[in-house]
Amino acid sequence: MGAIWILNGNGLWVANTLLRINPNLKRLTRNSFPIPFRYLCLMYLVKTPWWLRALYPSLVWRIKSPGKTIYLTFDDGPHETATPFVLEQLARFQAKASFFCIGKNVLAHPDIYQNILDAGHSVGNHTYHHLNGWKVKDDVYLSDIQNAATLIHSPLFRPPYGRIKRSQLKKLSQALLPATPNSNPATIMWDVLSADFDTDLSPEGCLSYVLYHTRPGSVIVFHDSTKAWDRMSYALPKMLEHFSKLGYGALCLNLTFCSTQKAS
Ligand SMILES: [Zn+2]
Repeated sequence: MGAIWILNGNGLWVANTLLRINPNLKRLTRNSFPIPFRYLCLMYLVKTPWWLRALYPSLVWRIKSPGKTIYLTFDDGPHETATPFVLEQLARFQAKASFFCIGKNVLAHPDIYQNILDAGHSVGNHTYHHLNGWKVKDDVYLSDIQNAATLIHSPLFRPPYGRIKRSQLKKLSQALLPATPNSNPATIMWDVLSADFDTDLSPEGCLSYVLYHTRPGSVIVFHDSTKAWDRMSYALPKMLEHFSKLGYGALCLNLTFCSTQKAS
C-alpha cells in the first residue's frame, strides 16, 4: 500500500485538514497540475525523492543497473484472480518479478503461491497480517513477520504501507532467521509507486505515473489485490508492452542484486 513517511508528516497534516474541510479538494488539486507535480498533492509519493532514499541508505530503493532493466514487484497476494493474471502477463513478455506476499494469503492460496515460485519469480515477506509497523509494538510486529517466515522462505522483506520503525528494522534479521539462516535480509522499498490501490485514480492515470517515472533500475510497486484490480489490470500489460518495445527487460529481485547493486 501507499507510502506516507514521517518526514512529510507536517504536509500531510495540512493536507488532511484541508480535505476534511473540502473532500473534493483531492480530485481538484490532482487535475490542476501537470504530471511531474501531481504527486505533490497526493496522500502518497508516486516517485520516492532522493533525500528520502539518502536518509535510509540501508533500505533498497532502486537497483544500480548497467542496462535497460526494471524490477516489478507485486504486494499483498497471493490473490485468486489478480495473481494468475499477473503471472500470465509476465509470461507473455518473458518478464520476471518479485511478489511480496502476506502470510495469511499464502495459507489461503498455497497453489497460487507455488505457481509464482514454479514460474521462476522471487517472493518476499510482507508480514502475516499486513501490519502497520508504526501502529504496533515491536514484539507484535516481529512475531507477525516470524509467522509469515514459516510459510515464505525468503530473505527479502517489504514493510506494509512502507512503515517500519528503526527499532523494528534492527531486529529484522532475528525475525527472518528461520527463513534465512545464512544471510542478512534485505528490506525492499521502491522507486516508483503505481498508486494502483488509489480508488480515486483512473486506470489511465495509474499507467501514466508508471510510464513517466520508471527509469533503468527502478523498483516499481503494483498490487495483486481486489482493491488495485481495475488499475493494475489496465496498466500492467500496457507498461510491459511499452518497456518491452523500448528494449527493457524485467528481472526479479534477489539478495545478490540487493546487497551489491543498490543505487541512490
Ligand atoms: Zn501491502
